[in-house]
Amino acid sequence: RRRKKLDSQELIKKIIAQDKVALSQAITLVESLNVQHHKQAEEIIQGCLPYANNSIRIGITGVPGVGKSTFIESFGKLLTSLGKKVAVLAIDPSSSVTGGSILGDKTRMEELVKDENAYIRPSASGDSLGGVARKTRESIILCEACGFDTILVETVGVGQSETAVHSMVDFFLLLNLAGAGDELQGIKRGIMEMADAVVINKADGQNQKKAQQAKLEYNRALHLFPKKTSDWTPKVTTCSALHHTGIKEIWELIINYIALTTENQYFYARRKEQNQYWLMETINENILMRFYNNPTIKLLITTNKKAVQNNELSPFAAAQLILKTYFKE
Ligand code: GDP
Repeated sequence: RRRKKLDSQELIKKIIAQDKVALSQAITLVESLNVQHHKQAEEIIQGCLPYANNSIRIGITGVPGVGKSTFIESFGKLLTSLGKKVAVLAIDPSSSVTGGSILGDKTRMEELVKDENAYIRPSASGDSLGGVARKTRESIILCEACGFDTILVETVGVGQSETAVHSMVDFFLLLNLAGAGDELQGIKRGIMEMADAVVINKADGQNQKKAQQAKLEYNRALHLFPKKTSDWTPKVTTCSALHHTGIKEIWELIINYIALTTENQYFYARRKEQNQYWLMETINENILMRFYNNPTIKLLITTNKKAVQNNELSPFAAAQLILKTYFKE
């Protein structure tokens, strides 16, 4: 018991001293399904908390193939060249469902991986999207305590993971491609509405003209959304992640956003709100997990499913019975 305590304190000390190995070890504890590990992770997160919160958190989403890895490599290199310390975390919704990964193994960020001032952590996996998202949220705190001042959270734009990312970042960037005139169709309204910037990637070569056209269309579409509480007007811009053009402009745009929202005090108000959100999310996730992993409940659900199927019991009566058993009412 004493030894375990000492290990946590040791890890906290190392993380604060910007030791990336210790950071990785702590994130592994966060991601572990072992209850003992997670208890230790909680201790470490609590110890790191006073050193966290000093960063800009940027969410990056887009469909597979849009160029997220290429963009993060280019954007990340720009940031480290400006003296920033960049951590890249990912939420991969596929890994919780299929065990496979849409985001891949990040080998495409070849330069950034080698950069001393960058830290790339592939996506957590194993359980529900909610679980994966919470682990990423906790890892942000650890990265910040380790001295990373710019956190990039990547996700695939195919499902609910965007909402989770949006609730843990300050700035939400949607990467898109110029299509054949119907670019707006493929994007869910909700995702467009969350975006602080829409970036049309692959604006190079023969694509340039189409990208400009798409920019106009997105601008028109964004104007139809209600004004954001941040007072920020979402921007549409083009870039080529491959040829590193338009990347600096995106960083400047984010700096403007931070200046505006610091000035109008939205920035920290939003973070406070997000902390509350994660409190409730963690409670919800925990209740669900404990409930469904409870052996008695598992058995009751199986038997009652049959009873309900055969119309021996109404679904509502069965639900009440199971809930009452668990909550001992
Ligand atoms: P991800 O699946 O969103 O991470 O996309 P990748 O970064 O792996 O990129 C998918 C493909 O698009 C790769 O073959 C990249 O080389 C290519 N790509 C990415 N960005 C650009 C760009 O700005 N211009 C062009 N022409 N190709 C790009």
